[in-house]
Parts: sequence; structure tokens; C-alpha cells
Amino acid sequence: MSEAGAPQVIDHRGGVWSIAVPIPDNPLGHTLVHLVETDRGPVLIDTGWDDPDAWDTLVAGVGACGFTLTDLHGVLITHHHPDHHGLSAKVREASGAWIAMHAADTDVVRRTREAEPRQWLDFLIARLATSGAPDDHLAPLREARAKGGGRSLPGLRAALPDREIAPGELLDLPGRRLRAIWTPGHTPGHVCLHLEEEHPGKDAHGDGSRRPGFGRLFSGDHLLPGITPHIGLYEDPESVGEVTDPLGDYLDSLERVGRIAPAEVLPAHQHAFTGAEGRVRELIAHHEERLAGLRALLRVPLTPWQLAVSMEWNRPWEQIPYGSRNIAVSEAEAHLRRLVKLGHAELVPGSDPATYRAV
Ligand SMILES: [Zn+2]
Ligand SMILES: [Zn+2]
Repeated sequence: MSEAGAPQVIDHRGGVWSIAVPIPDNPLGHTLVHLVETDRGPVLIDTGWDDPDAWDTLVAGVGACGFTLTDLHGVLITHHHPDHHGLSAKVREASGAWIAMHAADTDVVRRTREAEPRQWLDFLIARLATSGAPDDHLAPLREARAKGGGRSLPGLRAALPDREIAPGELLDLPGRRLRAIWTPGHTPGHVCLHLEEEHPGKDAHGDGSRRPGFGRLFSGDHLLPGITPHIGLYEDPESVGEVTDPLGDYLDSLERVGRIAPAEVLPAHQHAFTGAEGRVRELIAHHEERLAGLRALLRVPLTPWQLAVSMEWNRPWEQIPYGSRNIAVSEAEAHLRRLVKLGHAELVPGSDPATYRAV
């Protein structure tokens, strides 16, 4: 429950609500779970982190929207991350609702459930070693590997979805027009959902002017008003050797949602906002600037680890916690892949660990 004891629920009108479900010990604070009414019962977009407090808030929130859990018809998941998909198994158990997700993220869920901790450790150690991570960073991982154990991942018990969300599909939701927009980048199977219905505030925009744009976009983590989502290498122990370009995917996906030009965006964190196209342009400019900055750093050949250390973060490198350093290196690598693909950087032939230089 929130401090006030009542869930923070916003009625966005037209049969759409948001419920702020807390994420424990996380600066993001909460996931905005959306509830969309249909003729066959309400559906949830995302469910929240698997935590007792979050669960209580979600149940109370569904109640504040005027429904009970058993009314739920389905659950649409924007992407597999635990702050979005964490409570899905519990919701399905309590309601009988189906769970739907894009196939690429379902693959990640399946592989995460099936992977042994050792396999994850091998994957992580190999990836970090190739990135030039120093021995003192690898030591704790090697130690865990030698003991045969490993960290437990939040996704290990994640629910396997019942249905697939196909790109471009108009979802089978009686009484609503909700279309799936595949937006890979933050994860390989991230989807946004476009509610192709007149915005309920279309003609009541304060001054009586018509609201620009069409419909509303549930944007998950893809498009957020004040923060940029993490774009790193896709986390998948079976993808070794597969050269994906998550940042390239993300930038393409940004253009895709910019072209939709929704009247309002309902993201999974922070708050609802208008001006999607402007926000898309801002984010594209941000990444272009960052890529140019990294290319300049690569005038001196660097490993991905060295590049991550040289990049600007929200705090000095020395203060970045152990686990977050892995995420930072993954983000540096995603940018490197983009630069290589654009022909702005190249791998130094024969280098080990992998070393890159500007072209
Ligand atoms: Zn996410
Ligand atoms: Zn998130």
C-alpha cells in the first residue's frame, strides 16, 4: 500500500485507469499498471514486481477501479522485466486470466526459467572477460562458479505466457481497438499498445481546442517522459555469437511510435504525458549525441569496459555498485555495436580482450 493506505489510482476516462504498484527498494518508485475495460471484462497492461506489498496494492487498485480480480479477462505484458511481469503468475492463478507477450520476450522468459545458475555465470563471465573486465571484477563470479552455485535471478519463476502478441495485430478485445506495436530495443520483444479510439478529452482541452494526435499509447518502458530506458545487450545465454543491435532496434522503434503520433502517452513509470513526437526527437538526439561522444573517446583504442569507465554516468565510476557496472558495460557495448554498424568504429584486428577504435 502507499503511505496514505489507499492505492494511487488515476481514472484516465474512457474505461482506462492506472494503478501505481510499488517496486521495493528502487528509485523508480512504482510501475504504472493500466487497466482497460472490455466487453469481456477488464484486462491489465503489466502487473508489477512480485512482492507482497505490490500484490496488496494491485488487488486494492483493481477494486478501486470497480472490479475484482476474478473479473479479469487477460493480462498484456509490454516486456519481460520483473517490474512489469513479476506478478503475472499470481494474477493468472487468482483470476484465470490469460497472459500475452511478444514471442521474443517469451523466449527470454523460457530460457531464463530453464537456464541453470552455472550456465548464467559462464555466460556472464565469458561476456565480461571479452569486454575487458579486470580480474578483481571477475573474481567473485569465478568463485561462485567454482562453488557450483550462482545468483538467483528474479525472472527464474516468471510466468510462461499463454498467448503471443503479434506485431501490428489488433488484439481480440471485444469493444476496444487496441493494436500491438512491436518496439524492440529495451528488450527484444518489447511492445507498445495503441488504443485506436478518440481521446476522451479530445474536444475538452481546457481552451476548447482540439487535442492533436490520435488515440493513446501504452508505452511500457519504451517512451518515458523524464528518463531514458536502459539499452544494453539482450540478456540471453543462448545468444552468444549472435550480433544483435539493440540500440539500432531502439532508435527504429522510437521512429515507429513517433509516426503514430498519439494524443497522449501512458507510460509504465513516472506519469502520463502529451507531445510524443517531441519526446521521440529528444531521445533520438540524446543517443546521437552520446554516440558522437563515444566515437570521440575511441580516438584512443578502448575495450568496452574501458569505454564504460570513460562514459558519463549519473555518478562517478568508483561509486557505481558492482551489479550496475555490469549493466553499464552492457550499455557501452550496445553503443559500440551501433557505432560499428554505422561504420564509425571498428574492432582492432586480433585484439583480446576486444578493443575498438574510431574510424
Ligand atoms: Zn524494463
Ligand atoms: Zn520498467
